[in-house]
Amino acid sequence: MCGIVAYVGNKQVVPLLLEGLKRLEYRGYDSAGVAVITSSGMKVQRAVGRVSVLESQIEKAPGFEGCTGIAHTRWATHGSPSVPNAHPHSHKTSDGYLVSLVHNGIIENYVSLRKWLEAKGHKFTSETDTEVIAVLIAEFYKGDLEAAVKAALREVTGAYAIAVICEREPHTLICARKGSPLIIGIADKSYVVASDASAIVSHTTQVITLDDYQVAKLCAGPNDKYNPVAEASGDTSGGGGPWKVDFKTTTIDDVPVTRDVQELEFDLAQIELGQFEHFMHKEIMEQPESIRTCLRGRIDLRDNRVVLGGLASFTRELVRARHFILTAQGTAFHAGLIGEYLLEDIAKVPARCHYASEFRYRNPIIEEGSITVAISQSGETADTLAALREAKDRGSLALGVVNVVGSSIARETDAGVYLHVGPEIGVASTKAFLGQVLVLTLISLYVGRRRYLSAEQLHNYLEELERLPDMVSKVLEQSDAIRTATEKCLDRNNWLFLGRGYHYPVAVEGALKLKELSYIHAEGMPAAEMKHGPIALIDKGMPVVFVATQGSQYDKVISNIEEVRARGGRVIAVATEGDTQITRYSESVFYVPHVSEALQPMLTVVPLQLVAYHAAVLRGHDVDKPRNLAKSVTVE
Ligand code: GLU
Repeated sequence: MCGIVAYVGNKQVVPLLLEGLKRLEYRGYDSAGVAVITSSGMKVQRAVGRVSVLESQIEKAPGFEGCTGIAHTRWATHGSPSVPNAHPHSHKTSDGYLVSLVHNGIIENYVSLRKWLEAKGHKFTSETDTEVIAVLIAEFYKGDLEAAVKAALREVTGAYAIAVICEREPHTLICARKGSPLIIGIADKSYVVASDASAIVSHTTQVITLDDYQVAKLCAGPNDKYNPVAEASGDTSGGGGPWKVDFKTTTIDDVPVTRDVQELEFDLAQIELGQFEHFMHKEIMEQPESIRTCLRGRIDLRDNRVVLGGLASFTRELVRARHFILTAQGTAFHAGLIGEYLLEDIAKVPARCHYASEFRYRNPIIEEGSITVAISQSGETADTLAALREAKDRGSLALGVVNVVGSSIARETDAGVYLHVGPEIGVASTKAFLGQVLVLTLISLYVGRRRYLSAEQLHNYLEELERLPDMVSKVLEQSDAIRTATEKCLDRNNWLFLGRGYHYPVAVEGALKLKELSYIHAEGMPAAEMKHGPIALIDKGMPVVFVATQGSQYDKVISNIEEVRARGGRVIAVATEGDTQITRYSESVFYVPHVSEALQPMLTVVPLQLVAYHAAVLRGHDVDKPRNLAKSVTVE
């Protein structure tokens, strides 16, 4: 699911839209486009590939002057990445005016709608699901864009965030959402709409958000009733100034709704590269700081307690929980797998992590005392949101572990804990993963102390957590050595990642990072599982990464390392500082400081992030925008 930027106001819109699209590039996309209302009607330009391609096409095509426009980066769900499929999609109304629309999401009933519209004589020019909305709006248009959009949205099922403009109403922008994020920024004499705060913050921090099935009509244009003479004598009944801005929010069924203006908390420096070449590198390197911000105010060493304000009103339910159901996708799923170990080990409550996509369709069993925890960086992951709703419908208490404040999951849960690690721009999640594991650790300690964890045990954990940022910094210092070791193995296209206990999910996460960034095939699994099949893959020189820190299963992991060496595999180990024995078995060793086993994943994952990062850079790949991937997967 990709990006929307739209604007209505008093500035030239094209540079503004392109700047917004560039801010959204990190989400991954395959094509881009803009539509602008100019003095001679709608101008549309669409291109496959980067925003820079679109930009150079617009530079060569004159006449894109105008102050109202919409723009999109598409991540194809229906129809290949091509110019006809790129957004905006435009269609003529019966009285000959062009309507243009950009859409994020999926329209599920587009086939039947398309048939119905074709039977009425409408011609389609793309393979997308989106185009039916543009055609429906044109079909229903009777001189009122807002009414036509609402009529169209009453026909569609699925997920959408849309922005729509029409030649006949050049100072009006209509936007709406259901299941896909959309934020409206209120700037000076204008409105900026985007699917992501990063495209808004350079214009304003005053925003309104829409709930599902809500529509905003945003108008910014010359004020016909403006009377300078009357205003000079203090009478502003003419509207106060030559330029008038005005917004109105309703549901798609035309019921008025009030939306409060909120202050967006967002620091622009957080979404800029600074001294780094890639956002992913920046985000890996800033993990000590993001741990500090995640922990701020949450660990109280003096009173020996964990403070989680978001959970305070549900403490009773948490302490009496009979079962934790963790649900997530991708990297967040791996954080959830670590959560299983944490909750069972520290809080002594049974916990299972489920792929949200499976959970939602499986007829899941929710028993009394079940608590569902939805984990998602963006808080918009479609499957995770749906799994959460399923669990809620079946009576579970719903908690959220998300990074983006005010996101859909954050709004739909009963309570939750934000990661507070700052915006994550790199498509491959790193600091958010660490934040998710950290928050799950805090929740486990919060519940654990109220169950079986002694004051002394909690104190030890809290002390270690306080030192965690410095420990991560020490791991990061090895970045160059990790690069050298990685380079040696890049001739191989199959890697294995193995770990036991807390490190089994770390191994799986390490493999995922390598796959998504370097396009090297990698598998991660519990180390003992190797003997049940994957050992057949091991031949001379195959890279096998072991997470082999000191802990309850260290000796067992060493045995697995021996098995790999006996078959000529090339061992890369992540080990505890001071472990000299491991060097005898491994080609390369990356060290992490000694810490309790439960906290080790937050250290051991860091070298694996760096392996994936360096592998991608060394292979010449676009680290921040890996092929075929999007930052937040808001479609099924
Ligand atoms: N489903 C639409 C398409 O395939 C929108 C995809 C997106 O969100 O970028 O064009």
